[in-house]
Amino acid sequence: ADLPDYARKTLEAIAPGFKLTDDRLREITHSFLHDFELGLSKYGEPMAMIPTYVTGVPNGKETGTFLALDLGGTNLRVCEVKLLGNHKFELRQQKYKVSDTLKTGEAVALFNYMADSVDAFLTERASIDPNQQNEDLLLGFTFSFPVEQTALARGELLTWTKGFSAKNAVGHDVGQLLQDAFDRRHMHVKCVAIVNDTVGTLMTRAYTGGDCLLGSIFGTGTNGAYVEDISRIPKLAGHPAVANGGKMVINCEWGAFNNTAGLRTVLPSTPFDNKLDRESINVRKQAFEKFISGMYQGEILRNILLTLVDHQPPILFKGESSATLNKHYGLDTAVMSDVENAQTLADVRTAVSAGLGLPLESVSDLDAWIVRWAAEMVATRAAKLSGAAVAAILVQTRHARLQGYGDPAEPIKTPGVMHVGVDGSMVEFYPHFEERLRSALRALVGEEAEKATKIGMAKDGSGVGAALCALQAMKQL
Ligand code: ADP
Repeated sequence: ADLPDYARKTLEAIAPGFKLTDDRLREITHSFLHDFELGLSKYGEPMAMIPTYVTGVPNGKETGTFLALDLGGTNLRVCEVKLLGNHKFELRQQKYKVSDTLKTGEAVALFNYMADSVDAFLTERASIDPNQQNEDLLLGFTFSFPVEQTALARGELLTWTKGFSAKNAVGHDVGQLLQDAFDRRHMHVKCVAIVNDTVGTLMTRAYTGGDCLLGSIFGTGTNGAYVEDISRIPKLAGHPAVANGGKMVINCEWGAFNNTAGLRTVLPSTPFDNKLDRESINVRKQAFEKFISGMYQGEILRNILLTLVDHQPPILFKGESSATLNKHYGLDTAVMSDVENAQTLADVRTAVSAGLGLPLESVSDLDAWIVRWAAEMVATRAAKLSGAAVAAILVQTRHARLQGYGDPAEPIKTPGVMHVGVDGSMVEFYPHFEERLRSALRALVGEEAEKATKIGMAKDGSGVGAALCALQAMKQL
């Protein structure tokens, strides 16, 4: 592009901070494995490696009708799930908006609202009427925040993430908070499982596809759940639930990877990332998530663009900003998607103008080119780091070896096909996300393992997965 010299120099100074060499990616994955080990050994570690008390994954033959309630991101969803037993299901669902007031107010108000939403759903949408039944309706509660579980339906909220901060919830049993809200309304609904959305994704992919070793989310936040040998979870030793050995699903809470940054920095923090972190409601928390997820990528881009707008002499938009650009979290990651999806430079200009709320005539070809350059840089780094998380699970479960590390004498399971279930807007909509993730996978675990990895969307994972966990709760009783 026809960049003035001062602009080219500035961009060239920014770019290296976003670059991830193969060596750096391997170092990050290695550090991931170290955090896995710490989390599996002790409670209270930044990467929590939460035992879910789910000891089996479905095979697709399961049947029954269950309720699911899903709180995790932008919306609250209530679902009725009918498992048909042939890898298929029927789903009725309704979304309810969660206001910022509810997200940041009193927890009791938030849980009351959830119970009211289930009540409304049962009246307006459900095929089954709890008042016509002898037994309580069983509900799986997809609650996609870090919960330290002590049983399938019991667990304390460790911390809020993704913009939630409701008071008097951290340290409380969220299964009980929900049940209390149902009971106050005399509803015939029983919460029998607390389910992380990653666990739901894993269970759903296993039900629909017959097998799955990792369920992962790349949406508002990022996280993963995988099937671990109980013998490799030292912190569970002596717990009656694991006396017979076997397997257990672990919710990694990998968004918290490298929260110890500063002490042991391995993530490629730039000044734009540091600014985002400082101004966030959870400083030095969810360190990994802040590089990757939909909630944050737009904000990183906003920080870069503002630096270029404010540069003297200006590098973008002749120094003109916009309300969208000036607003904290004003730039939605979906705008980056549109910018990267645009086919021609003229289309990029249109996407930039619409996405940033600037008149088309204020966006030159060069401006459009620069915004696209920055978006691609932020998104490529995010997708490659996502690949590091997936690779870490393949290595942890001994399905693959981390290139350049490890003892080659250690036996590795033959890859065959490795099923990874995914969900979230990043993987569903962001252009080139999987391709970029796979380029990192190749560098980390080699081409054979990358090729053997089948990445599949687990649609409706939070609803169907919660139903499958409710069913699992019945079996495990
Ligand atoms: P959740 O994780 O809350 O269940 P999603 O998976 O839909 O929901 O993720 C929502 C996040 O994805 C938001 O942060 C939003 O900015 C971002 N997003 C929504 N649509 C797109 C898109 N087309 N491309 C990229 N990001 C998107």
